[in-house]
Amino acid sequence: MSKIKLEYIWLDGYTPLAGLRSKTKIIDGDVASLTLADLPMWGFDGSSTKQAEGKSSDCLLKPVGLFRDCTRTNAFLVMSEVLLPDGSPHPSNARATVAEDPDTWFGFEQEYFFYQDGRPLGFPENGYPAPQGPYYTGVGYSSVGCVAREIVEKHIDICLAANINIEGVNAEVAKGQWEFQIFGKGSKSAADEMWVARYIMMRLCESYGIDVEWRCKPIRGAFDTPLDWNGSGMHANFSTKHLREVGGKAYFEKLMAAFSKHMDEHIAVYGPENHLRLTGLHETQSIDKFTYGLADRGASIRVPHSFVNSGYKGYLEDRRPNSAADPYLVAGRIIKTIHSVPTN
Ligand code: ADP
Ligand code: MN
Ligand code: MN
Ligand code: MN
Ligand code: MN
Repeated sequence: MSKIKLEYIWLDGYTPLAGLRSKTKIIDGDVASLTLADLPMWGFDGSSTKQAEGKSSDCLLKPVGLFRDCTRTNAFLVMSEVLLPDGSPHPSNARATVAEDPDTWFGFEQEYFFYQDGRPLGFPENGYPAPQGPYYTGVGYSSVGCVAREIVEKHIDICLAANINIEGVNAEVAKGQWEFQIFGKGSKSAADEMWVARYIMMRLCESYGIDVEWRCKPIRGAFDTPLDWNGSGMHANFSTKHLREVGGKAYFEKLMAAFSKHMDEHIAVYGPENHLRLTGLHETQSIDKFTYGLADRGASIRVPHSFVNSGYKGYLEDRRPNSAADPYLVAGRIIKTIHSVPTN
């Protein structure tokens, strides 16, 4: 037995951008054998997080994911759902609305900006850096600056130690912009791990005096700068057992028809301010159009070459979700549309 630090993490009630919150609980336990089932329910003051009125402010925290935290001794990160005092899901609890589906897999590509002193890391105090071009997958101080890569590397290692399925990272198109990818099998696991990976990134940046800007269009390109700057997405790659093992052109076309029909419901949960990003420029489709296309980065859904070459089998990439979107809502909506299409 030893003292174990549990950092309970949850999403607050702020809209349209929910914030991450956390606090530490110390329990007696065995680090080597601790499992989710060993974790107690906990609570917090919902009146301070826009999740309750002052007079009856208790909200409950239900542990739903356990991740080793290598940055502290004997410590774990505990992803939690927020419940009302009667044990039912709080209205802000999007995770509870996602259908259980172990055969659906998601891979999210999280883009974001590092921010310091109110501007992207590496932007000069006045004016703008050299135009986009060398930054994407770039190397060298003038492309990626001096601390960004150090943070990104530490983030990878903390995620891997936590058993988070981080699949890769890259410097992105705008200066100060980066990406990491998280993959998970099952309707909720990639989204759970995405929220924990976001938490890890934000906490890691504290000691550098850097913030993470998740909003999708922090620099509005030609509108308020002389140059164009990319926005940030969270492309949602998805596959189901049927898509991976059976697929076929007829099923694929029915599926795309359903995505087209439900365009507005998808856009509604694909992140705030997305009209600023989905303009038809910068490898996006316009927010009011639904298209799909082979290897087409200007389409709403990109169909990988591998998908067509294997007989319309494999995964698809919905390019519309943005960097600030809630991956629970994105996964939940994609599953809903998939479930509306019969597989025979
Ligand atoms: P790109 O930048 O070219 O769009 P990335 O390599 O950044 O591609 O991201 C591809 C994503 O696709 C990864 O997150 C990966 O996990 C995901 N992916 C690969 N295969 C599948 C699959 N069968 N189902 C769901 N997601 C998948
Ligand atoms: Mn207290
Ligand atoms: Mn990518
Ligand atoms: Mn990208
Ligand atoms: Mn992509």
